[in-house]
Amino acid sequence: MSPTILPPLKKGGHATHCKRCLSGLPSSQVDLDPTKMALSFYCLGFLDLSGELEAKSKDWEREHWRDWIWTQQTREPIMASNMHAVIRQTEHIPLGGHYGTGFRPSSYMTATEYATEEYSDHNTPHIIMTYTALLSLSILRDDFSRLDRKGLLKFLRSCQNSDGSFSSEPLGGDSDLRTTFSAFSISSMLDDWSGMDVSSALRFISSCRTYEGGYGQSPSGEALGGTTYCALASLQLSKQLESLSTQDRQKTVRWLVQNQASNGGFRGRTNKDADACYCFWCGASLHVLDAGDLVDEAAMSSFIASCQFKYGGIAKTPGEHPDPYHTYLSLAAVALLPPNPSGEASWEICPLDPLLNATHQTSSWARAHIPAPKVDGDHAL
Ligand SMILES: [Zn+2]
Repeated sequence: MSPTILPPLKKGGHATHCKRCLSGLPSSQVDLDPTKMALSFYCLGFLDLSGELEAKSKDWEREHWRDWIWTQQTREPIMASNMHAVIRQTEHIPLGGHYGTGFRPSSYMTATEYATEEYSDHNTPHIIMTYTALLSLSILRDDFSRLDRKGLLKFLRSCQNSDGSFSSEPLGGDSDLRTTFSAFSISSMLDDWSGMDVSSALRFISSCRTYEGGYGQSPSGEALGGTTYCALASLQLSKQLESLSTQDRQKTVRWLVQNQASNGGFRGRTNKDADACYCFWCGASLHVLDAGDLVDEAAMSSFIASCQFKYGGIAKTPGEHPDPYHTYLSLAAVALLPPNPSGEASWEICPLDPLLNATHQTSSWARAHIPAPKVDGDHAL
C-alpha cells in the first residue's frame, strides 16, 4: 500500500492560500467570519509550520495582525454610572455581566459605535477563540504585556458547568470536549490551574468515553476522531494520561488504527470516508498514546498529496475546494508523522508539539511568556 515516492508538497502555494485568507476572506468563505479568530490561527499556524511566515509577510502586517487580535480581548464592564446605565438600557443595549476577560471571534457582533474593550451579554468572550488567540499571538512572538491573566482565570471559572465541562461562553453555547480541551490548554499555557475544578473536568472527559475506545463530543455521543484527540491531549496536559488502564489504552489505539482507510487517509468515525483533517486528529491521538509508529505515514502523506488543490491549499478530500482548516491540519499531521523516507525534500517539516498544536518553538514561546511573571517565587497576576 505504501508508495515509495511522493509528489511534491506544494507548501509555497498553500502558504499563499493561507496568506490570502488572512488578509481578507474570499467570497466562498465569508460565512467563516464568526470564527475569524480560529481561521486566523489556521492561517498563521500554516505559515509558522511551513517556515513561510517571514517570507510571506512584512513587519507591519505582523504588527497589524497582533493589534487586531488584541482588539478582540474583551473585558467585563466596569461598574457604570447610573446615568450611563440608563442611557444604555434605553437604547436596548444589554448590560454585560461579570465573567472575566477573554477573546471574541471577531468584531462582527459589535457595531462600530459600540466597539469598546468591554462586552455586553450578546458579545462575551469565547473559549475556543481565546485558546487560538493565545497561540496566534505566540506565533507572532508577542510579549503578552497586554494579557489580563487574572481576568482570564475568572473567565474560565465562569465557563465551567456543574458536570465539569466548559461552555464556549459564560452564558451558554456549545459545551463539549472541544471547549473543555480549550480550558485545559489555556490553563497549561498560563501554568495556573486555579481557573478550573480539575477533578470535575476529568470526570466529564471520562464520561465521554465510548465502548469503541474513542471519545464522543459529550456523554452518550458517538466516538469521533477530533474529540478523542481533545480528551487524550487534555489528559496529557494535566498529567493524567497514566490514569487510563493498559486495557483502555489498547482499545483506544485499536480504534484509532482502524480509522486509517485503505486510501491512506483517516476517517473521523467508524464506517465514514477518510478526510484530511482526521490525519491530524487520529494521528496526533496515536502520537499522544506513544503509538505513532502504528500509522502508515507514507500512505497518509500520499492521501494528503491527493487532496492538494492545484492553485494552492489542501481540501478535505480529493477534488474538493481547499480551506485553511484542512490545509493547516494536513501539514500538522505530516509534521508529527513524517513519511520516511519520502524521496521528496518538500515533505520535511519542522516538528510539532502535539498537545498545544503548534511548532515546538511557538509552544516554548507560549510557555515562557503567557504565565504571570514570577515574583519572589510567587505568581504575580
Ligand atoms: Zn475535515
